[in-house]
Amino acid sequence: MNRKVPVELPEGYVDFYKNLETWQNEQQIKLQKDLSLETADILTLIANNKKPLVKIHKLKIDIDQYKTMFINLLDFLSRVRPQAAEKLKAVYDYIDELSFSTIMAKIIADDLKYFNDLAADINVPGDLLFFVLDHALRPFLRVYAAPYQEAIANDEFQSWNFSRECPVCGSRSHFSRLRTNDGRRFMFCDRCFIEWETRYLKCVHCDNDEPGTVKYLSVENDDAYQLYVCEKCKGYLKTYDERTAGKTTDMFIANIETVYLDMLAQEKGYNNHDY
Ligand SMILES: [Zn+2]
Ligand SMILES: [Zn+2]
Repeated sequence: MNRKVPVELPEGYVDFYKNLETWQNEQQIKLQKDLSLETADILTLIANNKKPLVKIHKLKIDIDQYKTMFINLLDFLSRVRPQAAEKLKAVYDYIDELSFSTIMAKIIADDLKYFNDLAADINVPGDLLFFVLDHALRPFLRVYAAPYQEAIANDEFQSWNFSRECPVCGSRSHFSRLRTNDGRRFMFCDRCFIEWETRYLKCVHCDNDEPGTVKYLSVENDDAYQLYVCEKCKGYLKTYDERTAGKTTDMFIANIETVYLDMLAQEKGYNNHDY
């Protein structure tokens, strides 16, 4: 799935994402008040099915609420990114043609072709359309995911061993942290905010754990941010080391702020196997 920053959302992207996260947090707090989602026995379900929860236990979201969230996000984006207004207007004009229940299912299924075809019909870039639809769904996913965080974090590889794939929403993670008190590695999902453990020196792309072939490159003048690279599959993983930094950080923003690390890794011939 294409998760690049769309070209319509240019300079000042860190501030843009900070504003977006604040907006999403506000939406999440509002939703939390009136959404009563039933919780499932997540560890048993994901262990038995080997699939993320959202593909097993149906996400029950009010389609009208999702549509309203989508319109609110279009309003927000038009306000903070006036340069994208024309393309966003084309999306506004198409709203009544959109099937939000299908869209929700297609996001969960990671069906990029569906969104590219839809974007072609609306005559807007596919990454922009997907960005708005996906980000409007995130506050719902975060409310849905939050009750499972503790069980997932304490699972110790018993129920879930798909390193990059979020056990709740199925999104692929690009970022991890090493926990301050014990150095254990937790992957972070920027879609639903769930964290799950993965082994410290095992490639999250290909499961390789041969000694000496998974190593870390520290970045000049910045020991807290590291790149873990695998010589077998040439994959990389960005990591924030809380032990070196001496503090925790907002993982959503840190992931955005370290786009330079993605560029550095790619310059050195590594990639994040997203396509
Ligand atoms: Zn997730
Ligand atoms: Zn690998």
